[in-house]
Amino acid sequence: MKPPRVVVVGGGPAGMLLAYQLVSNGVPVRVLERHLDFEREFRGELLQAPVVAALERAGLFSALLERGLALPDIERRMYVGKRRTVRVPGPQERGAVVSQPGMLALLHGLCMRYPHYRLDFGTTVLDAIQEDGRVVAMKTRHDGVEDRVDGDLFIVCNGRNSHLRKSCGLETEQFATTADALWLRFDLSDAPEALPESLQVHMFGKGLVVVFQRSTGHRLHLAYSEPGDLNRLRKDLPELRRRLLPTLPETLRPHVERKLDEHTEWQVLKIVVDRVRHWHAPGVLFLGDAAHTMSPSGGQGLNLALRDTFVAANHLLEALQAERPLDAAVFQRIQEERQPEIDRVQAGQTRAGQMVLKPLGVLHMMFTLLGAVMRFAGKKMQGAGAVPTVEPRYLTPLTGAPGLQGPTAP
Ligand SMILES: Cc1cc2nc3c(=O)[nH]c(=O)nc-3n(C[C@H](O)[C@H](O)[C@H](O)COP(=O)(O)OP(=O)(O)OC[C@H]3O[C@@H](n4cnc5c(N)ncnc54)[C@H](O)[C@@H]3O)c2cc1C
Repeated sequence: MKPPRVVVVGGGPAGMLLAYQLVSNGVPVRVLERHLDFEREFRGELLQAPVVAALERAGLFSALLERGLALPDIERRMYVGKRRTVRVPGPQERGAVVSQPGMLALLHGLCMRYPHYRLDFGTTVLDAIQEDGRVVAMKTRHDGVEDRVDGDLFIVCNGRNSHLRKSCGLETEQFATTADALWLRFDLSDAPEALPESLQVHMFGKGLVVVFQRSTGHRLHLAYSEPGDLNRLRKDLPELRRRLLPTLPETLRPHVERKLDEHTEWQVLKIVVDRVRHWHAPGVLFLGDAAHTMSPSGGQGLNLALRDTFVAANHLLEALQAERPLDAAVFQRIQEERQPEIDRVQAGQTRAGQMVLKPLGVLHMMFTLLGAVMRFAGKKMQGAGAVPTVEPRYLTPLTGAPGLQGPTAP
């Protein structure tokens, strides 16, 4: 059976990891990405240990490490209040920070080894074109010129609030969120010792949350979240300094104070938690944030998007090997395997959004009590909320990759 021509919309983590699994198993893939390169908006960087392990079994994580594009063994720690004495209890979470542009460029380099792979940068997908109730093409714009890209199967991985949901007739469920986040990025290569060893989340009550993390290339990523207009706050530098600086530990504060100015890289992230009821329509499947937009809470979105691709590749490639059609039954099996984890994580993110609105004193009390209960309950509670094992069966190992060209850290 001739393999289908797959068109992937969006060259983010979901799109590129899926493309690699399909292409390296003989399926022709064309990726359409609106940006001109992989240096795009701020995105998540913390990979959970099970995803790191899965990537490592294929040699992908080592390839990132060798190129300085990943930082191993990073723990996520949560604290309540300025004195940082109350640490939120729970299972220890250790993962790795990866440079998203670096990881995407590495996957692109791997895909390029196959003649049946193509990626079109600077190509925005405008709409889905349907014939007889089935998606048969994507309407695109490249260099101001509109065109269409035909295919046999379309996999939409174009991230949060995908406008293609509507044009494919998919219904969205939205959950309540309470605050947005202002992301800032600083180059601390002149003071690398100030970079935190862990990813730290600090809750100050009434919705104020500050997150900071070291990134590759000695950069610091910092998120400031609080109910209100953060675009306005970003433009009012004295006010931003007044609110942000006291929340930072002394080791970090002088460096951020010195560097925070009108040139600081920033982005206001509208926090959204939503999902489509059905991840598919005839001829099209949605994955990653396009299927279920996650809040940055808990650092889950990147991990869920990558696990979606493992499950999708497992089902799609198995169906192709068995010469079964890639139809609604296959897409539904993919959704059913992924849905329980998405539901659980989104419910947790919605609860967390409500919880951080409580006053600082209440948070202190809650987490002090919770810590005591967890110590008492011991191991029983440690496994709660554990990450499910999703084994990629078609993640082709890198071993012996001929002439692999790869990016390195800046
Ligand atoms: C600031 C921030 C911090 C985060 N922190 C974490 C974290 O620490 N850990 C974690 O697990 N998750 C985190 N997340 C979430 C995580 O980044 C996302 O869940 C993850 O990137 C989703 O991957 P994706 O491939 O589905 O979508 P995306 O990463 O959004 O990729 C979508 C791609 O599609 C392209 N695209 C969009 N529209 C079109 C179009 N019309 N035509 C063509 N191309 C298009 C985009 O340019 C992009 O390249 C964070 C998110 C943000 C924004």
